[in-house]
Amino acid sequence: MKTKEGIGVSPGVAIAPAAIVDAEEFDIPERHVAPELSGREINRLEKAVEISQNEILDLRKSTSEQIGKEIASIFDFHLGLLKDTTLLKKFTDAINDDHVTSEYAVAAVLRAYAKEFLDMPQYLADRVKDVYDIEKRLLRNLVGQSRQALKHLESDRILLAHDLTPSQTAGMDREHVLGLAIDAGGQTSHTAIVAKALGIPAVVGLNSVTGEATAGDMVIIDGHRGTVIIDPDEKTLAHYRVLAKQQVEFIHSLDSLKDLPAVTLDGHEINLLGNIEFPAEAASVINKGGTGIGLYRTEFLYLGAESEPTEEDHYNAYKEVIDLCKGRPIVVRTLDLGADKQTQSRARTPERNPFLGCRSIRFCLQELPMFKTQIRALLRASVDADVRMMFPLITNLRELRQAKAIVRDVAEDLEEDGIEHRHDIPLGMMIETPSAALQCNAFAQEVDFFSIGTNDLIQYTLAVDRANEKVAPLFTAAHPAILRLIKEVIRAGQRYEVPVSLCGEMGGDVVFTMLLMGLGVTTFSCTPPAIPEIKQLIRSVTMEQAAKVARRVMTFDGDQEILNYIRVATRKVLPDAYTNF
Ligand code: PEP
Ligand code: MG
Repeated sequence: MKTKEGIGVSPGVAIAPAAIVDAEEFDIPERHVAPELSGREINRLEKAVEISQNEILDLRKSTSEQIGKEIASIFDFHLGLLKDTTLLKKFTDAINDDHVTSEYAVAAVLRAYAKEFLDMPQYLADRVKDVYDIEKRLLRNLVGQSRQALKHLESDRILLAHDLTPSQTAGMDREHVLGLAIDAGGQTSHTAIVAKALGIPAVVGLNSVTGEATAGDMVIIDGHRGTVIIDPDEKTLAHYRVLAKQQVEFIHSLDSLKDLPAVTLDGHEINLLGNIEFPAEAASVINKGGTGIGLYRTEFLYLGAESEPTEEDHYNAYKEVIDLCKGRPIVVRTLDLGADKQTQSRARTPERNPFLGCRSIRFCLQELPMFKTQIRALLRASVDADVRMMFPLITNLRELRQAKAIVRDVAEDLEEDGIEHRHDIPLGMMIETPSAALQCNAFAQEVDFFSIGTNDLIQYTLAVDRANEKVAPLFTAAHPAILRLIKEVIRAGQRYEVPVSLCGEMGGDVVFTMLLMGLGVTTFSCTPPAIPEIKQLIRSVTMEQAAKVARRVMTFDGDQEILNYIRVATRKVLPDAYTNF
C-alpha cells in the first residue's frame, strides 16, 4: 500500500482499478513485480504487441491509400521490429529474470537497442527514431488506454495520468471514469474545473503517481483531502467505503435547500448561479438549486470535437441551454480558447508563453470568421431569452470596443439577411487581469455587467501559473492583493450601477463566501455541485456578520492569516459541514 498527497480539486471518494494514460512524454521508472506475477506481465506485453501490430497495419494501409506505397513502406520496419523474435525474447527475459514490469522491460530493452543504432553509420542511425516510435506505441498500449479508448472504457476505472488536457477530460467516458489522479496541475487548471463540474473526485499535483502504479492496481482517491492510495489493504478499503457513504449522506442532507432562496438571516437576497462547460450541465445547475447560468464556457464546444463547430452546432448548444433554463438568466462567455485550451496542441509553432499569448479575446479578434460565427449563432438563438454575452480576458478598452463593434457588425449582417436575431443583448466583460481591475471605472462606463474571474485574476496578479503544480501553494485567493482588486471592482460596479458577479473557483469555495458577501458580492456563479453548500452558508449568516468578517480580513496583510481567520469563522457558522476547511 502506498499513500500519496496532492491537491484535492474535486471532492468525493472513489475506489476502482487504475487505468494509466499518456505514458508518452516521461520516463518509465524501474518497478519490480512479484515473481508469480510475471505471467500476468507477459500476457499484457503480448496483448500490447498485438494491438500495436494491428495499429501499424491500419496505418500502413491508410498511408498507402492516401499518400502512396513508398511512404507506407516505412511501417514495414516497425512491423519487422514487432515480429523480431530475438527482440521479443529480450522483453520476456527481462520480465522473467529481473521481475520487472512489462513497461520497464520494453523501455529498457528498446532504449538499449536504440543506442546500438546510434553507433551505426548515419543512414542506419536515423532508424533510431523508428525505435523510439515503437517504444511509445508499445508503452501507450501497455500502460494506458489510447486517447480514443478514454472515451469508451469497458469498466469502472480511476484514471492516472501525467497530465490530461481539458479536451481529454471533456471527452472521457463519464460513466466509467470514477476518479482522476494526475501528476501535474493546480487547483484551477481546466482539467480540475471539468472534473469538479462532472462530480468526479480528482487529485492533481501528485508529481509521480503514474510511475508508482500499474494498470489494474486498486486505487482510492479522496478528492477532499487530496489523498491517493495505491494498492490499499483491507482495513483502509473499509475505512474509505465508510467515508464515501458519509459524503453521499452529507450531499443528500443538503437536497432540501434546492427550492429555498439564497437569502441571509437578515433578509438580503444573493443570486446563486452555476458555471457550465457543456449544455446538459444546465440541468445540474437547476437541480442543485441555482437560479441561472452565470458562466457558460462555450469553448468546450471545441474541446473534444473532431472538427470545428459550425454555426448550427453553436446555435443548437445555446438553444439547449436556453430550453433547459426556462427563462432563467444565462451568461454566455464568448470563446476563451488558447493557453491550456486547444490552440497549442494544434499549432504548428506552439507559443513560448501561451498564458501570456494569443488566447481568449485576443485569439477571437485574430480569428474573425470563427468569432463572428459564434456571435451570429448566439444572436439568433437568444431571441426572447434572457441571454447575456460576455467577453473574456479583456485587458484594455480598445479590445472591448473592437469586440462590441463586431457584435454590431454581425447584427447588421443578420438584419440585412432578414434573419431573426436579438437586438439588445446585454454585453459584459470578465475582470481577469490586474489591468482590467485597476481600470474598472473606465470599463464600467462601457459595459452592462462585470464578472470577476478569480482563476485568471489570481494567476496574473500573483504571477502563478494556475496549472503548474510546482507553484500551486502560491496560488491563493486569500492574498490581500486579490481581495483589494475584488473590492475595487465591486465599488466601481456600485458607483456606475453595473452589476458585478464572481465566477472563478473562489466563488464555489464556501470558506470565502462570507468574506465575499462582506466585500459586497451579491451574485455568485460556481460549479453546480458547490451550490447547495454555498446556499447553506448564505442562509446561516447575517449581512452584518459577513461585513464584520470582511472588515477584519482587510486589516490582515498575509494570506495564511486571512485563511485561518475565515476558516474559523466559517466553521462557527457551519459546525456540521462535511467540508474540511
Ligand atoms: C476565471 O478565470 O476565473 C474564469 C472563470 O475563467 P476560466 O476559469 O474559464 O479561465
Ligand atoms: Mg479565465
